[in-house]
Amino acid sequence: MIQTLIALALALDALIAGRPAIAVDPTKAALYQAADDLAPIFEEMGYPYIEPVITFENLGARGRGAVYIPYWQVNHYCGHRIAIGMQYRYPNYELYGTPDILATLAHEMAHTYQGVLCERKVSTVEEDATVMGLVAMEAAGYDDALLWQLRELMILRALDEDCSDRAWMDKLSKQARDIYGDTSCLEATGRRAYTQAILTIMDDDDGIVDPPAGPEMDVSALQEMLKP
Ligand SMILES: [Zn+2]
Repeated sequence: MIQTLIALALALDALIAGRPAIAVDPTKAALYQAADDLAPIFEEMGYPYIEPVITFENLGARGRGAVYIPYWQVNHYCGHRIAIGMQYRYPNYELYGTPDILATLAHEMAHTYQGVLCERKVSTVEEDATVMGLVAMEAAGYDDALLWQLRELMILRALDEDCSDRAWMDKLSKQARDIYGDTSCLEATGRRAYTQAILTIMDDDDGIVDPPAGPEMDVSALQEMLKP
């Protein structure tokens, strides 16, 4: 498995490095536009429409996204207000202008659609939200954001599986090494809940991921992309 993950990480990285850089404006307008593109796909999955509320907020140096409760729902844990990390707006941030912000939006939107499932703290809530975000990006044709996130998940999962041997990282593009080169073992392992999504997709027999709670998701197009 680890060899497959590494091979896929390298292949996805080469694919991204070989493409012209697509700059994504870290503006509210761009995020609302993307939310408009992604919302119908969550509806197609079987979730009722939720009007997105998106803000930039200070989530700490490495906090990319979060969902908050609206102030009038004080007894709820997971809300529908999407917070995107303020640092995406700073030109010196390592992910500034990259499609990463769209991948974060897709993941956080998925949490808002999980609603009560998120609230019940279903153990796979992060994994499921990541799969949902990937499916939505694929269906919306957000190829750059999709590849970007697949690369990250693959790299972090490979590090999680074997953090001691990172010789393969030398073969990554400079961009990827700049972003993930300093990732500590602890950090890679800490993201296990998210990166489990990649194994769930790859290992699924019939191309339909069936979360313990929530509608099933067709991941066959993603599986096609991840054929080693
Ligand atoms: Zn999450």
